[in-house]
Amino acid sequence: MNSSLQHTLKKSVRFVGIGLHTGKEVRLVIKPAPVNSGIRFVRKDVEPKVLIPARIQYVTDVRFATTIGIGNSTVSTIEHLMSAFAGAGIDNAIVELDGPEVPASDGSAYSFCVLLDKAGKKEQKQPRRYLKILRPVTVRNGDSFICIEPCSNMKVTLEIDFNHPLIAKQRFSGVLDEQSYIEKISRARTFGFLKEVEMMQANGLALGGSLDNAVVLSEHSVLNEGGLRFPDEFVKHKVLDLVGDLYLAGMPILGHVKGFKTGHMVHSQLLQAILSNSDNYEVTEKEVPPVKKSFWAAQGKEASAAVANI
Ligand SMILES: [Zn+2]
Repeated sequence: MNSSLQHTLKKSVRFVGIGLHTGKEVRLVIKPAPVNSGIRFVRKDVEPKVLIPARIQYVTDVRFATTIGIGNSTVSTIEHLMSAFAGAGIDNAIVELDGPEVPASDGSAYSFCVLLDKAGKKEQKQPRRYLKILRPVTVRNGDSFICIEPCSNMKVTLEIDFNHPLIAKQRFSGVLDEQSYIEKISRARTFGFLKEVEMMQANGLALGGSLDNAVVLSEHSVLNEGGLRFPDEFVKHKVLDLVGDLYLAGMPILGHVKGFKTGHMVHSQLLQAILSNSDNYEVTEKEVPPVKKSFWAAQGKEASAAVANI
């Protein structure tokens, strides 16, 4: 069955945008890569050039975004692009960029998914490998909780609870395959509170943050023209982040993740906890049904807006 083989891109694709935290323009090129090489990043503007594997061992910071690095070469805010790779079923690719941060695009993974679709997927002659969870693994950190249990698919059940009238409690539960990821998750944008955004910018963070790349909330309303993309966009973005961070396993995971008030920190702690004991998992090959239809077809207008800067 086709979709259980590894995939890379048919051709290289380019993207230009600003970094959410640095506010600087970054040019990004995503290139095809050989089987079993995974997703790797390279900073074109740093000497000597090193390939940084998008693997949990190379994570250097998880405070506001997920950062990987080797020596002086670091790349931050990789999670939305990683989520797009995971969601679109790309196993192997090289991401070259000329700055320290992946561009924010629209604050979701959607533009990256459109970009990957534009490149086209190339089947490779090697089975895809999966990290199959064999027994429950749990992490608690403050009031955050996350665990993973054995499951024949990638399933996610997340709940958030914010002291804000427009968010409050939201819950998402579902099996994620390529189609459900694209339809339900990929367009959910990152979000922030106006007060916190102002404070972060005063401290040199979120300098590129704007209503173009994040949902911004005042005390009682969404400031973005057009409002939300889904009523539960907030928890869906948490799922998007989780998918991206867990792809730092270097392969898709077969397990049911359950979480409450999750974030980059507990995502990375969960992955470390899983990998710390080989009794927790096995690496396996699994047949997965192919995607039934092109997920872009229904998205015409937004897709053309998203690719305008590609
Ligand atoms: Zn995010």
